[in-house]
Amino acid sequence: MSKFWTPVVKRTDPYVPGEQLNDPDVIKLNTNENPYKPSPRVIEAITKTATGDMQKYPSPTADELREAIAEVNGVKKENVFVGNGSDEVLAFAFYAFFEEGKTLKFPAISYSFYPVYSKLFNIPFEAIPLQDDFTLRAEHYFDAEAGVIFPNPNAPTSIYWPLEEVKRVLEANPDVVVIVDEAYIDFAVGGESAVSLIDQYPNLLVIQTTSKSRALAGLRVGLAIGQPELIEGLVRIKDSFNSYTVDQLALAGATEAFRDTDYFEEKRQAVIATRIETVAALEERGFDVLPSGANFVFAKKDGVDVERLYEQLKAKKVLVRHFKDPLIANYLRISIGTDEQMDEFLKRLDEAL
Ligand code: PMP
Repeated sequence: MSKFWTPVVKRTDPYVPGEQLNDPDVIKLNTNENPYKPSPRVIEAITKTATGDMQKYPSPTADELREAIAEVNGVKKENVFVGNGSDEVLAFAFYAFFEEGKTLKFPAISYSFYPVYSKLFNIPFEAIPLQDDFTLRAEHYFDAEAGVIFPNPNAPTSIYWPLEEVKRVLEANPDVVVIVDEAYIDFAVGGESAVSLIDQYPNLLVIQTTSKSRALAGLRVGLAIGQPELIEGLVRIKDSFNSYTVDQLALAGATEAFRDTDYFEEKRQAVIATRIETVAALEERGFDVLPSGANFVFAKKDGVDVERLYEQLKAKKVLVRHFKDPLIANYLRISIGTDEQMDEFLKRLDEAL
């Protein structure tokens, strides 16, 4: 091979994941993981599977997991698709449903994987500015050429968008797919999942994950819910890459995570309660905190340079997130940890302020 040879690499602009420091002393509040371990039943199921038939391929149809997801969501197995984390499900959905060369609409401040996939799959996009109060406006998402995607609650703003508004977007885009990315929906008090709308809107695909409310970010299981035509479209794309996708351990663990509804509810409520206390504590310290429907809060304080604050907190072994985008450069995103972690965070914040 000539030493002058360089491989041709398709033009990409990859996503940069949040810092994953393995230092056990670090209070890690930067990537919206669940602060609690997964259900003991999940660990038991994974352990049993690991000592079982790992020499065999996993089920290509993931029936048991899809049944368990369907049961929790009041839908049928045929309405459910599973993949390796919702990031992968999103990639398949972009590829399956958004036509190359046509314009996709999504909020300018939202999940930063959307522009990555748009570029990778040659889908031009219109990143639509948020309102001054960081909410979305339905009219901005009408008549999209390729489709629409937005997180609900939005990330990183944490704001939940009422279903009435989501419906207006679905109605104004009857011929293209509208994806509602509900990674954080379980933390939206009073918020309702768009899953209840799938029978009414065949153009709706709801994407969720086990990474947040089910405490399984390490397992990588995401899912999509929609009409069977959309689910079959996703399966065709999945099978074109890797017909197995989710491994045996992931199948076993995620299935149990959906079955252990008591544990799910207990930890979900714990995170919500800690969030409410954290918001109050930040407001006491003069922070403006956006109304959160997620397991994180988005906060700023007038006169405080949050990039410096982020660095100071990091030096004190607390990891939070700040963003370079000038529109939100004065905000910190803080994931909700346990009560103890948040007490410690507030203590170190007071030292840093
Ligand atoms: N969507 C949103 C809005 C997210 O914030 C995240 C987590 N970073 C994901 C999807 C992806 O989650 P996962 O791949 O862990 O399911």
